[in-house]
Formats: sequence, C-alpha cells, structure tokens
Amino acid sequence: MSDPSLLDWQDGQPVSRLYGDVFFSRTSGIEETRHVFLAQNRLAERWRALAPCSNFILGETGFGTGLNFLCAWQLWQECAPVDAWLHFFSVEKHPLSADELRAALVLWPQLAAQREVLLAQYDDALTSGWHRFVFAASRITLTLAVEDIAAALPQLDVAADAWFLDGFAPSRNPDMWSSEVLDQVALHTKAGGTFATYSAAGEVRRNLQSAGFIVDRVAGHGSKREMLRGELPQSRASKTSKPWFDRPKTTHTRHAIVIGGGLAGVCATASLAWRGWKIDLIERHTELAAEASGNAQGILYARLSGHATPLRDLVIAGYGYSNRILKECALSSQDHAQCGLLQLAFNEDEAKRQALLSSHDFPESFLRAVDRAEANTLCGVEVSSSGLWFAQGGWANPRALCEALTSHPNIRLHLHSEALRFEKQDSDWRVLGEDDQCIAHASTLILAGANDIEAFSQCEHLPLTTIRGQITALPVTTVTNTLKAVVCGESYIAPARHGVHTLGATHKFRDRSTELRVEEHAENLSALAKLLPNIDSQLEVAELDGRAAIRVSSPDYLPIIGPIADESAFNTSYAALSRDATTDIDTLSPWLDGLYVSTAHGSRGLISAPLAGEILAAYLNDEPSPIPKSVTDAVHPSRFLLRDLIRRRSE
Ligand code: SAM
Repeated sequence: MSDPSLLDWQDGQPVSRLYGDVFFSRTSGIEETRHVFLAQNRLAERWRALAPCSNFILGETGFGTGLNFLCAWQLWQECAPVDAWLHFFSVEKHPLSADELRAALVLWPQLAAQREVLLAQYDDALTSGWHRFVFAASRITLTLAVEDIAAALPQLDVAADAWFLDGFAPSRNPDMWSSEVLDQVALHTKAGGTFATYSAAGEVRRNLQSAGFIVDRVAGHGSKREMLRGELPQSRASKTSKPWFDRPKTTHTRHAIVIGGGLAGVCATASLAWRGWKIDLIERHTELAAEASGNAQGILYARLSGHATPLRDLVIAGYGYSNRILKECALSSQDHAQCGLLQLAFNEDEAKRQALLSSHDFPESFLRAVDRAEANTLCGVEVSSSGLWFAQGGWANPRALCEALTSHPNIRLHLHSEALRFEKQDSDWRVLGEDDQCIAHASTLILAGANDIEAFSQCEHLPLTTIRGQITALPVTTVTNTLKAVVCGESYIAPARHGVHTLGATHKFRDRSTELRVEEHAENLSALAKLLPNIDSQLEVAELDGRAAIRVSSPDYLPIIGPIADESAFNTSYAALSRDATTDIDTLSPWLDGLYVSTAHGSRGLISAPLAGEILAAYLNDEPSPIPKSVTDAVHPSRFLLRDLIRRRSE
C-alpha cells in the first residue's frame, strides 16, 4: 500500500525503509538503468529490427519508482517501428503513492514527457490486484501486478521477450531472487528471450542457470565490477493442465467485425483500433448505447465481496481501468463526474461485509469506512447509515463514452444495420443482414450483443439470463438538490445531470419487456427512501419518466469474455472428463476460429466492459492479459461446457 513511511530520502535519493536499500544507483540511476537493463538486453537493436505490427513483451520484477519503465518507454519511442506495441508487465508489492513517484521521477528531467503521461493515470488507489494502463499514443500497455512476486508470476499467461530483474540487493530481499521466483521467470520467457540484472551474486547466477538461462558476467555500471545478463536457449513452456482454456492461435489479418454498439462492443472495438486493427462495428439502432448501456447515468460502483474471489479481482481491475479510460476520454462534466460513491451499511449482512472489507489493507483513497456524520458531509444530504466511501466512484453517461471511444479513424460504424446471422467462408466470417446481404467479412468476429447473442446458433451453449431493469428519472427535489455523491444501498441515486437524478434500478428476472411501469417507479422511490430518510414520499409516480432495458447475466454472475469453442467437438474432445474429471488430456480446444464474445456484464458493464476490450485484445495479439490467469479462466466462455461435462459424471 502507498504508506509514506515506506520511503526515506537520503541526499535527495529515495531509499526503501522496508528493505534498507536504494531504488537506483546513488551516482546516476538513469545511466545505470540504461546500461544494465536496456543495453544488456540489447533492446535498441532488437526494437529496431522488429517486424511491422509486432509486439514486444518486457517483464520486470519490482516497479518501484517506474524509472526503468520510463527509460524503456523513451527508448521504445526512439527505436520501435511506428505500428509495434510494447507490453510492459511489472510486479510491485508496495506501490509508491503518486506524490512519491513524482518526487522520485522529477530527478530525471529528460523523462519529463513520459513521466507526466504516466502520472496522469497513476494514483494512490492502486490496491492489491492487477492494474492495466494503456498509453495508446506511445503504443504501450503497462500491466502492474500489485502483489508478491511469488503469487504474480504463475498468473502471467504469456512469455516475455526480455526481463528486468530489479528487486533490491539479494542480501536485503532474498524473496525476489529465490530459485522458485527465477524458475517462474524462465517459465515465462520465450526461446531466445533475455534477462539483465545489476546483481552479480553467486546464488542469483546459480538460480538463473538452474532455471535454464545461459548466464554471462559482464562489466557493471560505474563502480560496480560485474553484473549478470543472459538468454534462455529454449522455451520451457510446458503443456498446461487445462488445455480447454489455452489461448487459440492468433491470425494476423488485424481486421475484425464487432456486433453490438453498446459498451461491450465499443470497448472491444476501441482496444483493437488503438492497436491498429480495422474494425467494422455493427449496431442495429441508429445510435450507439441504445439498449442496456443507454441509461443517462451509469454508476462506477465497485461492489466487492469480503473474500478474495475472481469476481473481486475482476471488479478491482475493471474499476481502476474504467476510471483511467474515463479520464483519458475527458468527457464534459455533464457526462462524467468522479464525485465519490457511498455504499450504505443498510442491514446487518451488509455491515458485516463492509467490516470485513475495511479490515483488509485497502488504500484509503480506494475505500474507507465512514460514520454517518461524515457520510452526510461527503454526500451533501442526510443519508440513512454509515458506510464505505469510494472516493474514485461516480457516474458517467455511457453513450458519451461510447461516442468518444469510437471517434478513431480505424473504426467503420454500421449504424441501423442488423446482423441476423453469420457464417464462415474460407478464412472469413461473413455477417449477414436482411435479405442475406453481407454487411462485412473478416477473419475475426466479436459478439457483444447481450441477449441477441442467443439468436446465433454458435452460442447456444452460453447460459445467458436476462434481467429487466427500470430506472426512474427523478427531477431534483428540495432534499436531493444538494446531493453531491452517488449513494448506493439496495438501490442507488446519482447527483443530478441536467436537473434529473438517475434512480434505480429494479431487477426482474426473465422479463424481457421494456415498457415503463408505474409500479416499478414506486419500487424505486420506496428504495430511495431507504437511502435518504428525508425524501418526500409523496412524489407523483405516474408523472415520472424513466427507462427500462434488459441486462444479461450468467449463472455465476461473472461476464463471459473470450474465444468460443465448437460445442459438439468440445464435448467429443473432452468426453473423458465426464468419466473422470481429473483425466490428463492434452488435446487443444476445438475453437471456432476467430470467434470471440464479450457479454453477460449484468449491471456492472461500466466496470467490466472496458477491461473486457483489453482482455480480448490480449487474446488477439498474443499480449499479456490485464488480469491474472485464474480470472481469465473464470470468465472464459468454455467454463459452462466444462461444467456440464463434469456434472454429467455425477448424474
Ligand atoms: N525498477 C524500479 C525502478 O525503476 O524504480 C526499482 C525497483 S526497487 C530496486 C525493487 C522494488 O521491488 C521495490 O519497489 C519493492 O517494493 C519491490 N519488491 C520487493 N520485494 C517484492 C516482492 N516480494 N514482490 C513484489 N515486489 C517486491
């Protein structure tokens, strides 16, 4: 966590109090980074030689001040082809606060441009979990795993081209250099991949050698006599125990069709367009975000389980990423407000969940418990109880976000165009509309059309549940006109946008009609009275406006994100699992080549859909996923096929 007491300053240089060691060389940190990490991994030479549109994956143990990252970033801009992307994966157990990072990085005026771009996205709310940053103008992603190195590395789902091994001196921090950790580094290195470190310690050298690296001792920087660098002659990637979740082989045509112009489709479109893909985005309405993403105010609401679950990891990663994207899009104050969000402790169970969350080590700028008096002050109105305060929470207008994300020259919008079916012809998916007219064809097809996906035979095995939700558009009242934060309990109210609050939402399972219902306005108003005790309960419900839409969810409430397998071939390939779920099988999954899905975002699309775009981009470009492997598997479309096979065994 960003505890200021972790950092000490000696002679103007940052020193870790926890480890009693410097973050970089006292004489010249930047020169040491360039010599040790950049030069000894031969990055300039390798980057100049990259093929067009390629990727380079760079891993680091210990993000620290971000100096190595910024130096790599600067060199990347100087040397890499204009259409190549750098994916920087770094692990940091104790992230510095934004102020500390700034104070350390201002030592290097030559990196000011990169520093300011990083700091515009970096904040103090980096809690345990994985965090994705996209610096599209520089063609760089940063995936920062905030956790212990030993937990993070096994969750990385790709192999790196090069590694910066930088975890303080081995004598002060042996955990970073253990044989287990360096073995994981080797397991996540491509054949011919390299590492470099300032350390020349004998034990580090031996651990790297026994992990499979050919290790050289070369001259260190400045007064340091030696350092280590090396290369992995052959890949150590072994067969996985879950081949049904292994990544499909990527095609390289870099053209995709996306069906569905709501948040899920738009975010997948944007992530790929930034990476240079051409996208045909098909939407049957005349505007984007016209269905489940069509409410005037979507809530940035990180509802977290008290326990560590894949859903919690996903929500943490998605919440931070959505906030970063919203900041980048710079929507107007009428379309986005990071006004803070209060989760009320509205009953005993909720109070218990909140107590559990507050007992965890979350940074205060991420969440903190507040008593009722403070909650009233933060929200500007009297609220019904104490609660949890999420300073980065707020609301956004999803349509404005969708419009901002689709204003990219690589995106061709097909509005008012309904995709009725699709078929494979040669290597392309052809998407057909009315009268079997081909709307577009491409080797990659992403389905992001919520419950419309059910109409496509290739997706029959995805168990989607529909939930009708009605919101009420409540004109400002004498009680609510001072409301300045989002208040959530069993329902929510957002501060007014154009004089109207969004209030909601009802949950009606398996009800697909979207007409407005007076009784659901009444439901929303009585739920509001539980949030704000002074609310006037005499409001005339029949005169209220609102909106009803259908959300789509899955049986385990996790979204469905990833490649789609051929159902019958899958059942044949893995039939042995229905006899014995522990059978060792190494058959690759029979994918429907190039077919992907992003759906079942339920009512938290504003948090999960932007990250889902990055997850799909990672599959399609052989990049690191923005979330740990266990979470990628938890949201994988094939999880249902697998469960059904295994269940069959017990029937
Ligand atoms: N690369 C950094 C830079 O450019 O400023 C310097 C890294 S500093 C020498 C080492 C970093 O490793 C520290 O920030 C420390 O918090 C982190 N660290 C130490 N032990 C760790 C562990 N077990 N897991 C993850 N990070 C760890």
